[in-house]
Amino acid sequence: MIDFLNLQKSNSRYNDELIKAAVRVIESGWYISGSELDSFEENFAKYCNTTYAIGVANGLDALTLTLKAWLELGKVRPNDEVIVPANTYIASILAISEAGLKPILVEPSESSYNLSIENIKSQVTPKTRIILPVHLYGLISPMDEIMSFSRDNNFLVLEDSAQAHGSSINGKKAGSWGDAAGFSFYPGKNLGALGDAGAITTNDTELAETVSYLRNYGSRVKYKHEFKGVNSRLDEIQAAFLNVKLKYLDEDTRIRRSIANRYINEINNELIILPKTTYEENHVWHLFVIRVKNRDALQRYLSDNNIQTVIHYPTPPHRQQAYKEFKGLSFPLSEELHREVISIPMDPTLTEEQVSYIIGVLNKFSC
Ligand SMILES: *Cc1c(COP(=O)(O)O)cnc(C)c1O
Repeated sequence: MIDFLNLQKSNSRYNDELIKAAVRVIESGWYISGSELDSFEENFAKYCNTTYAIGVANGLDALTLTLKAWLELGKVRPNDEVIVPANTYIASILAISEAGLKPILVEPSESSYNLSIENIKSQVTPKTRIILPVHLYGLISPMDEIMSFSRDNNFLVLEDSAQAHGSSINGKKAGSWGDAAGFSFYPGKNLGALGDAGAITTNDTELAETVSYLRNYGSRVKYKHEFKGVNSRLDEIQAAFLNVKLKYLDEDTRIRRSIANRYINEINNELIILPKTTYEENHVWHLFVIRVKNRDALQRYLSDNNIQTVIHYPTPPHRQQAYKEFKGLSFPLSEELHREVISIPMDPTLTEEQVSYIIGVLNKFSC
């Protein structure tokens, strides 16, 4: 079986360094909020070209705590509206509801699966305060346009960069465009820990400080609590692993791009809609997602041919039981995408032969 993503194989490339990092942390006797986190925050901020990176427990918290910090700082008020794509992983939307703000779902652009300025404009109301673009599958949203529109209208922008570490427009990276960004280092993400982890990036000192208190019980000085915070810290051992893996992120991205280029150039089956090509720097190929009318048949066929696939995502957020309040809403394109998308293997440890095999099998699919 060709795995969709083989984390064991992927991480074992760095076994020696990861083991050394783990031993270093174990022997230090210091497991939370120490020098590994400090150095990861510095390294990741440098990578994204932002002033700050603040480590938190996961990507969902990165988004939620940024929104809560804006509430604490009086930048937004409860129930203010946040524009977010309807076709995202549910975490983008859960962060908004958890912070007591109102998610306003919008259809994506059919060519990019990301927000477009036209679609954002169609949902702006006097209560709109925040735009939350999701760089879905690793493709950065049109941040130049989103930022100039948001500046004109005094909106804040929070990038959901959980799938897009290192993607860029004109050399400016995901996570450095918005007023802030949330990253996830869930093990399967392009930069993945060996457990849960996340970070917020920003150039805003006030926001960075507020988030760093919120993640630690709302406390700046031990046992003094200025905010009703949470416990959402990035462990030393995960920070140490991330310091190792960050060094190899760009090399992995290069491999992902070469696999994606082969898929785009060599998959040649009229039943299959490929992702639209863009400038190479825009996409880091967290996922390679194709569209096909008879999706379930394709998934069965690939599985019969020993190729594992995953659906990102089978049910749109507005059709989830958790969001009964969205039941009456209709997003025909998002619903169609959720019916038709299927993600084929995308893993920096795939061999050329495996990629050739996958392409050959896809090109023979009929029905
Ligand atoms: C993974 C992901 C998140 C959440 O990250 P966790 O670390 O799993 O909490 C948020 N948004 C998107 C788009 C994601 O893919």
